[in-house]
Formats: sequence, C-alpha cells, structure tokens
Amino acid sequence: MTIPTITLNSGRDIPQLGFGVFQVDPAETERIVTDALEAGYRHIDTAAIYGNEEGVGRAIAKSGIPRDELFITTKQWITEQAADRSRPAIESSLEKLGLDRVDLYLIHWPAPANDLYVEAWHALEQFQADGLTSSIGVSNFLVPHLERLLDASDIVPAVNQIEVHPAYQQPGVQAFCRDKGIAIEAWAPLGQGKYPLFEEAAVADAAEAHGKTPAQVVIRWHLQRGHIVFPKSNRAERMAENFDVTDFELTIGEVAAITALERDGRVGSHPDSFN
Ligand code: NDP
Repeated sequence: MTIPTITLNSGRDIPQLGFGVFQVDPAETERIVTDALEAGYRHIDTAAIYGNEEGVGRAIAKSGIPRDELFITTKQWITEQAADRSRPAIESSLEKLGLDRVDLYLIHWPAPANDLYVEAWHALEQFQADGLTSSIGVSNFLVPHLERLLDASDIVPAVNQIEVHPAYQQPGVQAFCRDKGIAIEAWAPLGQGKYPLFEEAAVADAAEAHGKTPAQVVIRWHLQRGHIVFPKSNRAERMAENFDVTDFELTIGEVAAITALERDGRVGSHPDSFN
C-alpha cells in the first residue's frame, strides 16, 4: 500500500496517514507501536504529556526501520515552568524517543491564559534552526492565536493539529490555514467513537457501495478532504483495517454527504478555555 504524502511549507514530506498514541497505556506502547509498524505505518504521533514516548522509542529502535523512512511527531506542553517550554523539553522528548531529531514538533495547546505561546514558538523556531526538529507546528490553535503568532514570528507553522471529524470540521480554522499554507492534521479522526458516525447513512451507504468498513470510509473521507490523519487503535486487526484505505475512492457525492454530517460536535476541550 502506498500512502500519499503532503509536502509541508518547510519543504518536508509527511505521510498523510499515520498512527496516534493518545491514551495508549505507557506499559503497552512498545507492543502497540510495534504492531502498527508491522502493519505498515511509518508516521507516529505522540506527545510529552501522553507519557509514552519511551515506548514509542523502544518500538522504533527494535523495528530496525531506517530513520529516514519514519516520520515522528511529538508535542510540547507549555506551562509556566520555563523548562517546559524551552530546550530541556525537546531534549527530554528526544532522549525518551531515542532520536537526535524529530520530524515535527508542535505546541500542544495555546493555553491562552498563560500567554506563553508566542515565546514558546520562538523557542521552536530555534529548535528547527538547530536541527532538533525538521518542521515545527502548532495544535489546537484558533484563528486569533494563529494571527498573533504570524504577526510575531518569521516561520509559518507547518501544520495545525486540530479536532476534525465529520461531526466537527472547524471550517473557519481550516480556511484560514489553507490560505496561509498551514496543513491540517485532524485529531480524533473517528470522533473517538463518541458519535454514532459509523451508523450514519452517508457513511454506511458508502461503505456498502465500496465493500469497505465505515471506519475505512471515514478515514478515506479525511484523505480526500486533504487532512493528515493518525487514527489510534490498540488492536492489530483495526490497525490493518484503518491502513487499508488506498484502494478505493469516494465519489464527489459521497464526500459531500459525509461533509454534511457537521453538527458542531466537538468531543475535546475548547482551546480558549483549556489552560
Ligand atoms: P480516534 O478518532 O482515532 O478514535 C480512537 C477510538 O476509535 C479508540 O476508542 C479505538 O478503539 C476506536 N477505533 C479505532 N479504529 C477503529 C475501527 N476501525 N473501528 C471501530 N473503532 C475503532 O481518536 P484519538 O483521540 O485517538 O485521535 C487520534 C490521534 O490524534 C491520537 O491518538 C493523538 O495522536 C492525536 N490527538 C491529538 C490531540 C491534540 O490535542 N493534539 C487530542 C487528541 C488526539 P480501540 O483502541 O479499542 O480499537
């Protein structure tokens, strides 16, 4: 299976489909990421706050997969502790991952009440200049946060990783990012199972028409909408299912019907109040 890539504004290519490890138990992470790599995933999305970077690192080391075939993202949790938003934070992640650089390093949440994200971004710009990360980006940034960042800095974020699934698509943030050349990474691509997305007629009918599962249809919808996605599963059979999405194409009508499932159905926190 050939996974499509997207060229980021940093000039680096990112596999459009990867594997996420939010809420993957640190004690299970090595096994689960090993299963994901065996299923063919080469793009892994973790974060310092997930507490499982070491397990990701062990799985990478054990796999023997050449470093340049992997795309590894981690994220910084900015707090009022200076060390959490400066070099020690990325150095700690790199040590746990067993890497000398990551492919993408993100500010995890803007945490606007702390008013630290512009300062944190300047540190990320330096990490990229120093080769600790190939690209830098943000996560959970709304338009006002992005406008402020763009005004105050030289590097445009390569990505904005935000909650996106058929029930919650954030079209305003997406349009702003498209206009500025910021790629959209869609977290909770399956809605974390919190909506009956798979039972919606638009999804179920497309699944039947293509001989695919509803989860495969939703992932395919993301790919055709241009999102970068990394669905999470603890189960090897679902990892394989979620990866097997490159041998069919939704029609324009099917994509439109799934896009029409928007219902302002946020499953995660609101970036303005999550600090
Ligand atoms: P997802 O939308 O990927 O949903 C994961 C849930 O769906 C799990 O309960 C999983 O269960 C289930 N599932 C997976 N595959 C299938 C399938 N084929 N059929 C039925 N159920 C399935 O949610 P996530 O929140 O994990 O989002 C993906 C990734 O996005 C995260 O792992 C993380 O990397 C990132 N993320 C980033 C955030 C941010 O703030 N930047 C916030 C949240 C996520 P099971 O494991 O039992 O298979």
